[in-house]
Amino acid sequence: MSTHVQDIKERLGIVDVVGSYIKLDKSGTNYKARCPFHNEKTPSFYVSPERSSFYCFGCSAKGDIFTFVEKFEGIDFMGALKVLAERAGVRLDKLSEAKDNRKELLYKILEDATIFFENNLKKDEAAHAYILGRGLTQKTIDTFRIGYAINDWRTLRAYLKGKGYKDEDVAAVGLIKKTEKPGGDPYYDVFRGRIIFPISDSSGRVVAYSGRIIVDDGKSPKYLNSPETVLYSKSKILYGLDKAKIDVRKRDYSILVEGQMDLVMSHQAGYTNTVAASGTAFTDDDGKDSAFGLLTRLSDNIVVAFDSDAAGQKAVKRIVPAISLGMNVKIVDIKGGKDPADIIKGNEKDWAKALESKKDFIDYLASTLVDSKATPAVVAKQVREEIFPYVRAIPLDTPRFHAIKRIAEHLAISEDALWKDLQTYVRANPPGRDTTAPAARSESRKLERLESIERKILGIIHSKKYFDGDEKKIKELEKIVGEEKAKIFKALTKDDLGELTLEAEVTYGDTKIEKECTLLLLHLEEEYVKKRLEQRLADLHRAEKADNATDDIMKDIDVLSKRIQEIKKLTTT
Ligand SMILES: [Zn+2]
Repeated sequence: MSTHVQDIKERLGIVDVVGSYIKLDKSGTNYKARCPFHNEKTPSFYVSPERSSFYCFGCSAKGDIFTFVEKFEGIDFMGALKVLAERAGVRLDKLSEAKDNRKELLYKILEDATIFFENNLKKDEAAHAYILGRGLTQKTIDTFRIGYAINDWRTLRAYLKGKGYKDEDVAAVGLIKKTEKPGGDPYYDVFRGRIIFPISDSSGRVVAYSGRIIVDDGKSPKYLNSPETVLYSKSKILYGLDKAKIDVRKRDYSILVEGQMDLVMSHQAGYTNTVAASGTAFTDDDGKDSAFGLLTRLSDNIVVAFDSDAAGQKAVKRIVPAISLGMNVKIVDIKGGKDPADIIKGNEKDWAKALESKKDFIDYLASTLVDSKATPAVVAKQVREEIFPYVRAIPLDTPRFHAIKRIAEHLAISEDALWKDLQTYVRANPPGRDTTAPAARSESRKLERLESIERKILGIIHSKKYFDGDEKKIKELEKIVGEEKAKIFKALTKDDLGELTLEAEVTYGDTKIEKECTLLLLHLEEEYVKKRLEQRLADLHRAEKADNATDDIMKDIDVLSKRIQEIKKLTTT
């Protein structure tokens, strides 16, 4: 395997690989970009062609092309190997990889089951006619590897047993289940009488299934999804992403639909940047490692097109984590009780028209309220329940102000009143009470970044080779972080800093290190100034509420804002 890795590394340059995912700008002998692994406005993510590595000063992410693809696509090493091998045109010798590796065995079971389902569909005329009747072409069926699970209790189990797989392993990937009833064969197939949509990770390996029932028996669910397994995490996998990722990047937006049928039909209509929400648990617990985190690395722009029925409208609530990641969310208002698959089956052009009608999510949400001839009290309640959960999730002040302004315009109510209501709402629904909790998370992210920058600077300053405890730089650092923290820094010994200095030396060449350090100090100052600015803004709100004088606070805010602008200019030129 190591020769595969070497082969691939020789054929693919890190700049080409990373540059195919994010926009890189040349910076001396290196390249820099806004880091795909943490939120930032100014670039602190560096790619070194010389060392074939990348490094981020904001979040400490580092590694080679394999690490990058793993992190970026949210897959394991073998997945990254598959992605990069295909790119490099290196053939992977499957046998040598599969040796003694349980995960590989599980992937193999899923691959064999997928082929089995595909063949079933080819053989079963009724199932095949059903799927063609839904508007899918044979090409789409092949591309998405759509299959069929025969309506029988043990067909798949018998087939996989015949291939030599153990029941425990087949159960581990969620294909069979053990019955509690005594006597007879304890294991039975999970998917029966269903059209099978294989769900893949972003490298294209099948990890789970979604099965749609063909003949409704009135008691089984319409859709049945695989359970979570070692290979399938519902919060990290989006249906269709493996096929959509290149076009999401190219077109700079993704389309999010609800179901598998909607997705395959949208791809068939030419919107190959579509992904489906079905089966995915959208949380923002994992931040940038979540399903939306994966999407936002490809593009910040997302167009949500859920069904127009009540369930679809409820599903819109699932976009809150996308908003808290700072994504630019637009919503398509699908009318008349249809879903995207119906529309596309009717006429592909209507799908294009529907997508054209997308609205910014605030405009969409406000427009759902605007029709009602409600009393002011009712409107206020609706805003609180239907819009504030989204507004609260917006991570930055400026777009949040903008959202309030838009809501005020739509509903013809006062901006001030809305703003006050929002503050009350946030106080009454503090972060941590529900799954959104954007404020708390961004707070911890900020802290991480701050600490990370501080560590880098310390590393450079104490790196004997370059500065040998450069007094001037240490003074600058003290000025930014304050005396107390400076004392802690000074008390650190060479041993404490060994790892940091090494990191600095390895990361920077002999040149540029001075410039990097200056830049890092500016980034650090920016973090401290921002923190101070937030405190003063809170002071301002308090003072205004208590009708106290605000002149001094305003002056401070002005000075701090200007310094942030100055730093921005200095760090971007
Ligand atoms: Zn980063």
